[in-house]
Amino acid sequence: MVKNEYDVVVVGAGPAGSTAAYSAAKMGASVLVLDRRRELGIPVQCGEALAEDVLKELGIKPDPAWAVNKTNAVKIVSPGGIEVRISERAGGKVGYILNRKIFDKFLALRAADAGADVMAGTFVYGLIQEDGRPVGVKASAPGQRMEIRCKVLIAADGVASRIARWAGMKTTLKLDDIETCAQFQMVGVKLEAPNLLEFYLGSHIAPGGYAWVFPKSENYANVGLGVLASRAQRRPIEYLQEFVKRMPNLQSGKIVEINAGGVPVCGPLDNTVRDGLLVVGDAARQVNPLTGGGIDSAMRAGNIAGEVAAKAVAEGDVSEKRLKEYDKRWREAMEKRLQRYLKAKDVLLSLSDEELDKLAKVLSKVDFDRISLTDMLKVLVKASPKLLWKLKGLL
Ligand SMILES: Cc1cc2nc3c(=O)[nH]c(=O)nc-3n(C[C@H](O)[C@H](O)[C@H](O)COP(=O)(O)OP(=O)(O)OC[C@H]3O[C@@H](n4cnc5c(N)ncnc54)[C@H](O)[C@@H]3O)c2cc1C
Repeated sequence: MVKNEYDVVVVGAGPAGSTAAYSAAKMGASVLVLDRRRELGIPVQCGEALAEDVLKELGIKPDPAWAVNKTNAVKIVSPGGIEVRISERAGGKVGYILNRKIFDKFLALRAADAGADVMAGTFVYGLIQEDGRPVGVKASAPGQRMEIRCKVLIAADGVASRIARWAGMKTTLKLDDIETCAQFQMVGVKLEAPNLLEFYLGSHIAPGGYAWVFPKSENYANVGLGVLASRAQRRPIEYLQEFVKRMPNLQSGKIVEINAGGVPVCGPLDNTVRDGLLVVGDAARQVNPLTGGGIDSAMRAGNIAGEVAAKAVAEGDVSEKRLKEYDKRWREAMEKRLQRYLKAKDVLLSLSDEELDKLAKVLSKVDFDRISLTDMLKVLVKASPKLLWKLKGLL
């Protein structure tokens, strides 16, 4: 039975929210996590690729029920069709292709097992504020409306987050700050290899973004793309239909699911804390701006947010000053990396298709033995010292 008062209320049971709920509950706080989705994880709005590091860090053992495929190689194809290949050599890092319908539910179950209450199908439509700070939420579920009070509110409500905005934070995304994506889940495709992540660049393919083919098994893949609204002439799904038509190995595939969604690629919010409030995951824009990958950052930040919220409640101080520990810790853990990728994205966006082909030509001759942005940049600067000024600060 859900109570009307908790130490910590989390809005959103995605990777950020469920991880935050888990760590807060583990630390002894009473926790409620609310999500408007009737079934957590559905609809999927994700390419479902995740590097193994975050699972190791958080002590989560990959389960074949949700870690459905392993990847350890990457192919990047330039606008003119030049291929750059990178594989992690023996003992290198592994990535997973998830089934997020099961993964998101697994993370919520993990939070529940740790003691958190979970309510699916519950939409948060407003904040309860006192003296200008949030002290609870107003929510509706089928047949009922409720007001739930809390000492700390965690906004893990994704890219379209409203909680932070309602609390007075500036979260507006400009057209250039968001990749709009479309994705098909396709069966019967002819994949080059089931361990290979494929990326396709080009203004004709995905203006301001890229197309991806992420294998879920030998003939089953997530095929998607993201475009920058400010550069695209058409809807992402139209670019995707054209991409599939152009790829002989995908043409025989059957579309069993269509997904769409937005990814914030502007870099993290300047401040993610207010009195009684923490903002995590896509809501805090903690996404890799180059790749659009955000599951790992959402989980890392969620873990820290839950810990800090529980400690602050136990100490009886949920002021912005006390909660700043969260802001400080997640920035130490990932901000430098996110800012570096933001710069790399800006450089990539400044290059023409011809320039991308030239760079790909250089990289295609190198035998990389790990998937590393730094290694690729070093090769590029050596081959074309003129690039140094553009890549300044990235190396
Ligand atoms: C097409 C696409 C492909 C992607 N591919 C990848 C990928 O391959 N790898 C990767 O790492 N990342 C990928 N991402 C990004 C990744 O999906 C997100 O970064 C990640 O899901 C962020 O987790 P989160 O918990 O912050 O937010 P979300 O997963 O979006 O969860 C937010 C939750 O909040 C709930 N919610 C929102 N508002 C309310 C409300 N008012 N009341 C109640 N509940 C609410 C939502 O229902 C949702 O469940 C992709 C994104 C898109 C759109």
